[in-house]
Amino acid sequence: MHTNFKEIRLALKSEKKQNTIINIKGHNIGDGSLTIIGGPCAIKTKNELKTIAKEVKEAGCIGLRGGSFKPRTSPYSYQGLETEGFRIMHEVANEFGLIGISEVTDTKQIDDAVKYLDVLQVGARNMHNYELLKALGRTDKPILLKRGFSSTINEFLNSAEYILNEGNEKVILCERGIRTFEDATRNTLDLSSVAIIKEISHLPIIVDPSHASGIRSIVPKLSYASVAVGADGLLIESHYDPELSVSDKDQTIDCKTLKEINDKVKELHKIL
Ligand code: PEP
Ligand code: MN
Repeated sequence: MHTNFKEIRLALKSEKKQNTIINIKGHNIGDGSLTIIGGPCAIKTKNELKTIAKEVKEAGCIGLRGGSFKPRTSPYSYQGLETEGFRIMHEVANEFGLIGISEVTDTKQIDDAVKYLDVLQVGARNMHNYELLKALGRTDKPILLKRGFSSTINEFLNSAEYILNEGNEKVILCERGIRTFEDATRNTLDLSSVAIIKEISHLPIIVDPSHASGIRSIVPKLSYASVAVGADGLLIESHYDPELSVSDKDQTIDCKTLKEINDKVKELHKIL
């Protein structure tokens, strides 16, 4: 059983028995509680992010995530506000007492990201960018590491290992679906990865049901399933009016649904 993980050291329970608990702005991630993060795929304006933040907070979330360096499949798609988005995230997250999260796509962005963000996200496309991982491992900021869409669990944990090996122990894993033959959903949510990782690793793992599905209507059900399988939290793309989303609108839920998910997963978590 679990014979694939021979190269992994620091990320395994065999190395560190106690679960990694990451305290950010007074919230513990990985202590057995649920961390629910909302927010838009991409930040467009400060006013829009403020309105989203208010509703995300009222829905019961503790984190606000919004992309600013957007790794888009097409160069013609919206690319994001870049550093200005980090500044907006800083201001808005602080105003609403939320954990501010955004993606870093290049080592050049790290200084500003450290200055303005509470958690630095590594997106699926950069899970194998080892120079980026090493540089992030030399910061003291929590890193939200998303699984690459064609990566095995072993490769995913090896990427976490790159960050841990540089001295940064604050790694939060994120399962966001993988590429399979199935094309009815954007990706296939690999719930087994959560079950396996909870068994072998002390690191917290959250699930992103939005990119896993690409379909707004099934995001609540995938959220419940993720919590049932042991996820430490959820990252859900949400907007007060999903149709106004500049990217990933089809998978973005409204904040009323976000509140329903928050309420239900907290109930579900109690009985598990
Ligand atoms: C995102 O989180 O907006 C994103 C681009 O996701 P992923 O890296 O998982 O594709
Ligand atoms: Mn997105």
